[in-house]
Amino acid sequence: MNPAAKKRIEGLANAHRLTDFKWMDPGRVIIGNWVRMKCNFGCPGYGKRRTCPPYLPPVEECRNFFKEYKRGLLFHFAKRFKNPEMRHPWSKEVNRRMLELEREVFLSGYQKAFIFTQAPCRVCKNCTGTGECRHPYQARPTLEAFGVDVYGTARRMGYPIQVVKDYHDEMNRYGMLLVE
Ligand code: SF4
Repeated sequence: MNPAAKKRIEGLANAHRLTDFKWMDPGRVIIGNWVRMKCNFGCPGYGKRRTCPPYLPPVEECRNFFKEYKRGLLFHFAKRFKNPEMRHPWSKEVNRRMLELEREVFLSGYQKAFIFTQAPCRVCKNCTGTGECRHPYQARPTLEAFGVDVYGTARRMGYPIQVVKDYHDEMNRYGMLLVE
């Protein structure tokens, strides 16, 4: 991808107020079986939406998926809430902008564009809570759901992240646009 093409994609991201990002080789994404185990055991979202395990490919297939791309934009979102309940509408709105970016990059001629949202799918007010999906064209997984060790990957890229101990702690969330 030439510098002008990169600039154009960066401009589209900025237009959606997605301004904190770094280009990275998706081959440098760290993937771990332990991440999937955290989904399988301990996450209340397991099996609750189409974009989460067990409806996603095995970890090895996820790993191979990242290898099919040479470039990606890793997005960082730092946020702290006085009222923790506000994190849900905030996530929905940020996810919506990320989906719009994927669409625009796709329509710009990058047919492989694929976005990982920074939080689980919140397209519908009430998810079906099953593997069935009302809007499959808009439903996208998170990095975690694809087995990505977000802690290791963020730190490798020089971004902050820590275990959040309390809802009032600052969250550092991440998403990624794969593009080629
Ligand atoms: S699009 Fe709607 S039904 Fe599908 S996973 Fe997202 S919230 Fe659930």
